[in-house]
Amino acid sequence: ESPAPPEPDHTFKIVIVGDSGVGKSNLLSRFAFNRYDSGSKPTIGIEFATKTMKIEGKTIKAQIWDTAGDDRYRPIISACCRGAVGAFLVYDITRHGTFEHAQNRLKELQEDADDQGIMVMLVGNKCDLSHIRTVPIREARDFAKKSSLHFFETSAADVKNVDDAFERLMTEVYYSVT
Ligand code: GDP
Ligand code: MG
Repeated sequence: ESPAPPEPDHTFKIVIVGDSGVGKSNLLSRFAFNRYDSGSKPTIGIEFATKTMKIEGKTIKAQIWDTAGDDRYRPIISACCRGAVGAFLVYDITRHGTFEHAQNRLKELQEDADDQGIMVMLVGNKCDLSHIRTVPIREARDFAKKSSLHFFETSAADVKNVDDAFERLMTEVYYSVT
């Protein structure tokens, strides 16, 4: 007989936003299920997964919403961001355009979040492809600093920094709401 899962002390809604193909769905599946899919299929609308973790001795349940990058879904994404207390703002370090779009998206994200404010983690994904990067770390770090964002480079493919980035975001959210 397996024990009942512990009731979470807190449940936090987190959204993952960014252009198509930057690796949002793989970041989520890597974190939630330790799964990676090298052939990608575009996310239709919105999907979500949950993961429970311990932070400062508390049981924290993350309800993580994976959105589609396609602008067609913009109204759905906007509705989805309501009530979110944290966000992964993802770009692909090999495609500078996705970084530029992330900068524009930040404003939308802050408007869509409710008045409680939203803790944003800037994520440069595909850092396993560092040899063909077009976004220098310094440029991303400068933007993050200027906009008061946390920042990590990750690789869903190589399992680099994925757990650390999610756990850091959840910890920051935990401190901001308690
Ligand atoms: P999404 O559209 O943002 O959800 O992106 P996906 O998660 O569907 O990934 C898009 C493509 O990028 C897929 O072919 C993935 O296998 C690939 N991909 C995702 N993460 C990484 C990564 O960390 N490194 C590399 N090299 N490829 C990745
Ligand atoms: Mg996707």
